[in-house]
Amino acid sequence: MALKQNRPQNQQGITPMYMEVDIIGLSFPVEETAEGFVPRKVEGRPMDRLIADCGRTCYQTNDRAKPETDVKLILGMAKNGHTSVFEHGNVTIRIRGGSRAFTHELVRHRHTAYSQESQRYCDAGNFGFVIPPSIAEAGLEGIFISMMEKSQKNYLRLQRKLNKARAKGKLAEGRKTNEDARFVLPNAVQSEIVITPNLAELRSMFFKRLTKHAQWEIFACFKLILQKVVTITAVFDDIYEYFQKNGSLDGFTITL
Ligand SMILES: Cc1cc2nc3c(=O)[nH]c(=O)nc-3n(C[C@H](O)[C@H](O)[C@H](O)COP(=O)(O)OP(=O)(O)OC[C@H]3O[C@@H](n4cnc5c(N)ncnc54)[C@H](O)[C@@H]3O)c2cc1C
Repeated sequence: MALKQNRPQNQQGITPMYMEVDIIGLSFPVEETAEGFVPRKVEGRPMDRLIADCGRTCYQTNDRAKPETDVKLILGMAKNGHTSVFEHGNVTIRIRGGSRAFTHELVRHRHTAYSQESQRYCDAGNFGFVIPPSIAEAGLEGIFISMMEKSQKNYLRLQRKLNKARAKGKLAEGRKTNEDARFVLPNAVQSEIVITPNLAELRSMFFKRLTKHAQWEIFACFKLILQKVVTITAVFDDIYEYFQKNGSLDGFTITL
């Protein structure tokens, strides 16, 4: 049975070739009409008016709403640390092609909602895997892939034997075999995950995951996320500009 492969380019290039990040949902302003709730027609990036309107509540300046002033207000709030306003916006992101090692790091961020591909309910017999850049750099891909194939064999063997044991009535009532066979799977296994952070939390995640201390795969993921979210709101403009210039957020001064 063929295994699906995923090859990150290299440590600093930091774009795993097959990691995919897609925005699948976001908050935007709505209004109530006779037909029910409909999206409000606004100019500018889709989330800016909602965030700016929430911010304007603090100053009672809602009459000044314009795309240019939305951006100015948002950047001012980012600079001054008035970031609780950013919690009014959520973005839902689907991430494919990352390893379980990576998702384990990702889920440590506590103010984010997660839904992840289940190894209890899904059959991992034909798993995809991530090859770390050092493995490719050291010319160890062949060895690594054969290790993955061994893991696959072990998983399938265990799954088969557990299914047989269950059929013979040897397992306790209600046992699921995939959930126990998965214990022999490697950390490199690809795992799909959907996350919904609010924008303040996402800023905090960028500050932790786009530095030289961050692990390469989570760095790569947040680089892709940053490139996407900057198209939906000005909330990340300061971070994006700094990142574009410096290649990381090391040295970025955060106002708290
Ligand atoms: C380079 C690096 C190395 C790491 N190494 C390890 C490691 O070896 N072992 C390990 O276990 N983890 C490790 N981690 C994970 C790290 O400890 C955090 O769990 C992870 O970065 C999430 O950060 P957070 O808790 O600040 O973020 P979030 O959960 O996203 O929270 C965001 C912010 O909310 C606030 N907050 C959230 N919850 C609370 C709370 N209960 N009380 C007070 N304030 C709160 C804090 O200000 C926090 O920064 C590492 C992380 C990085 C970036």
